[in-house]
Amino acid sequence: MITSSIELRRAPDNDLWLEVDSAIPFRISAECAGDMGPSGEPAAHRDRVLKQSGFDPACVLGVRQTHSTILCDLRSGPPESESDEADGMIFDISRFAAGVTVADCMPILLTVAGSAIAALLHSGWKGTGIVVNAVDELRSITGASASSISAILGPCICGRCYAVPAERAEQFRRRFGEDAGWRDGEGESYIDLRAANMRLLEEAGVVQATVVRNCTVCDPRLGSYRRDGSEFRRMLAVAGPFGE
Ligand SMILES: [Zn+2]
Repeated sequence: MITSSIELRRAPDNDLWLEVDSAIPFRISAECAGDMGPSGEPAAHRDRVLKQSGFDPACVLGVRQTHSTILCDLRSGPPESESDEADGMIFDISRFAAGVTVADCMPILLTVAGSAIAALLHSGWKGTGIVVNAVDELRSITGASASSISAILGPCICGRCYAVPAERAEQFRRRFGEDAGWRDGEGESYIDLRAANMRLLEEAGVVQATVVRNCTVCDPRLGSYRRDGSEFRRMLAVAGPFGE
């Protein structure tokens, strides 16, 4: 696996967004942006936050996130019904951007060499494994091999900050490897979303990954449910082209 580890950088055009240095724009809002899912109400604030970054809100796809491992195929556009619940979207990057709401969970972008079809995922502890479904789906849609898929693992809560009940850490260790669930010298248990997803990508045959080092708890510019409790900022992670 060819892995590069990078830091988020400030978007050059405004202070309110951070970005990954990548071929396809992949940005994280540093202010509270609200929910990306279809709420049935006009999401004026969210749309304003998207516009700050040059995204056309009408061209940013979203789904109702439920911490699942379910993907929605949105290649032909926005979900038809309000009930579309999913935590990942397959989309056409030549026509749309896609956005997920995140706080400590990890946004993941998968792209396929030579194709405009991509996947954007919301992957927290409950939904860990969605990345495997996305790799399978991209392979079957594009006919590409796993080795032509590249992954960007966005900012999330780091393994040193993510204390969990001992059983959950043990479950992670068993399913996703030694580095994914562990215990410190004081008997406190932790899980590491990056380690778990890297292991899954490797098993799926993906050979290129970029890991964003910023931790949502350690980096005050980012929103964290763990750090801030009910007052936490819901950030948007958006990938895809800017609007006109
Ligand atoms: Zn941390």
